Amino acid sequence: MTQSPRITLIGGGLVGALLAQQLAQRGFAVEVFEKRPDPRLAGFLGGRSINLALAERGLQALRSAGLADDVLQRAVMMRGRMVHDRDGHSALQRYGVDDSEVIWSVSRGALNMLLLDAAEAAGVTFHFGQSLVAVDFERQRIRLADAAGVEREQTVGLLIGADGAGSALRAAMNAHAPLGERIEALGHGYKELEIPPADELAATLQQLGGGRDQYALEPHALHIWPRGGYMCIALPNTEGSFTVTLFLPAQGAAPSFASLPGSTAAAAFFSEQFPGLLSLIPRFAEDFDHNPVGTLSTLYLDRWHLDGRALLVGDAAHAIVPFHGQGMNCGFEDTVVLANLLAAAPGDSAEVFAEFQRVRQPNADAIAAMALENYVEMRDSVADPHYLAKRELGALLAARIPAHYMARYRMVTFTHLPYAYALERGRAQDRLLEQLLRENPDVATIDIEAAAQLLVSTLPPLPALR
Ligand code: FAD
Repeated sequence: MTQSPRITLIGGGLVGALLAQQLAQRGFAVEVFEKRPDPRLAGFLGGRSINLALAERGLQALRSAGLADDVLQRAVMMRGRMVHDRDGHSALQRYGVDDSEVIWSVSRGALNMLLLDAAEAAGVTFHFGQSLVAVDFERQRIRLADAAGVEREQTVGLLIGADGAGSALRAAMNAHAPLGERIEALGHGYKELEIPPADELAATLQQLGGGRDQYALEPHALHIWPRGGYMCIALPNTEGSFTVTLFLPAQGAAPSFASLPGSTAAAAFFSEQFPGLLSLIPRFAEDFDHNPVGTLSTLYLDRWHLDGRALLVGDAAHAIVPFHGQGMNCGFEDTVVLANLLAAAPGDSAEVFAEFQRVRQPNADAIAAMALENYVEMRDSVADPHYLAKRELGALLAARIPAHYMARYRMVTFTHLPYAYALERGRAQDRLLEQLLRENPDVATIDIEAAAQLLVSTLPPLPALR
C-alpha cells in the first residue's frame, strides 16, 4: 500500500482550514503554517464584523466535512436582493423559487474559527504567527518568520498554498519556474462600514417610523443600493448588525474614493446618493476615516502547480472579484475535489495536482468572468427595465420548461453544475431571451408556449441535478 505523504499547508484561512480538515479526515498527516495569530485567542480582525455569502457549493463542501449544520446555526438566511432606489423605495427580488433556494450570511471570523476547531479535532497541527517568506524546493525546506521577524527553517511535505490572493508560496513558485501570472485590477475599490443592531439605533428608527426587531433593515435579504457606476451593499449579521460595503471607482472624477478624501465629503455623498442609509451608520465618520480601501483584482495563472511538489488552491490560485459571492464557495469546492483526488492516489502528487488543475481551472476561469459581469448586473442592471423584463421572461420559462431553462444565477448559486457549464448555458439562454424580447419587448404579450418551443428545439435539456 502506498504511504500517504505528509502535507504542509500554507495559510489557515477559510480554504486552508477546511482543506486541512478534509485531508486529515482522509488519513493524511497535515500541518498548517498561518501568518496571523490564532484568532480564537487573539480575536478576529480587531473584532470588526465582516461577513460573506455562503451558497450551495460552499454548503455542499461543508456537508461533506460534516460541518454544514454547525455553520448554518450561525448564519442569517438571505432570500433575495432588496433593491433600494434613489427615492428611498425598496423591493425584494427573490433569488430562487422558494426558501429552499436562499443564500446565507456568515461571519468570516466565526466561520474561520469553527473551521480551525474542526481541523484541530480531525488531527491537524496549526502553527500560528508563522509567515512563509521563502522556499527551497530542491531541499524541501521553507523559511518562516514570526511576528517579531525572527526567521527559522522547516522541512516540509507536499506543499499546498492556501495563503490567499497575495500568496507568498505563489511568489516563490513563480520565482522558481514562472507560472504565467496575470493580475487584472478592476479599478474599483471597497470600504466596509457598519449598521449596528436596532437597539443602538432606537432614536433614529423611531424618526424613520420603523421597528424591525433587532435589525434596522429587513434581515433576510442582501441589500443593494445600485447607482449605475457604483453601489453599496449590506449583509446581515446574527447579532443584529449589518456590514455595509461601498464599491466605487478607486481613482478619477467624482464619485471615486479619490474624490472622497474624508468622511465629511463622504457623508454628503451618502446623503445625496443613498437616502436613509447614512442615519443607520452612527459611526460613519470613524468607519470611513479608519477602514482601509480594499483593492479588487482577478488573478489568472497558466500553472497552478510545480510538478508534484507544490500546488495552489483557493484565492492563491484564482482570486476573483466578489460580485457573485462565490470566491469562498469556489475555494470550498476546490477542497473537496483535491482531498478526493489525493485520497485516491496518495503516492502520485504530480498526477493529482495536474488533474486538479485540469478539472478546476476552466471552472475558476468561468466564475471569474461571471463575477466581473455580475458587478455590472448588481450596480446597474437590477434597476434596469430591460433586465427586469428578461428576468420576468426567464422566470416564466423556468416555470414552464424547468428541464430546459434555469437562470444562470440559480445554476451558479443553487446547484453543483460546473461553473463553466453555467457560463456557457447562460450565454446560450441569454441569446434566446434577447431574441424574444427584440421581437416583442412586452413580456405580458409574449406567447410563452411558442417561446418555450423555441428553447426546447434550440437547447438540449439541462443535466440532471444531484
Ligand atoms: P484567505 O481568506 O485570504 O486566507 C488566506 C490565509 O493565508 C489567511 O489566513 C492569511 O493570514 C494566510 N497567509 C497569507 N500570507 C501568508 C504567509 N506568507 N504565510 C502564512 N500564511 C499566510 N466569497 C464568497 O464566497 N462569498 C462572499 O460573499 C464573498 N464576499 C467577499 C467580499 C469581499 C469584499 C472580498 C474581498 C472577498 C469576498 N469573497 C466572498 C471572497 C472570499 O473572501 C475569498 O474567496 C476567500 O476568503 C478565499 O479564502 P482563502 O483561504 O483562499 O484566502
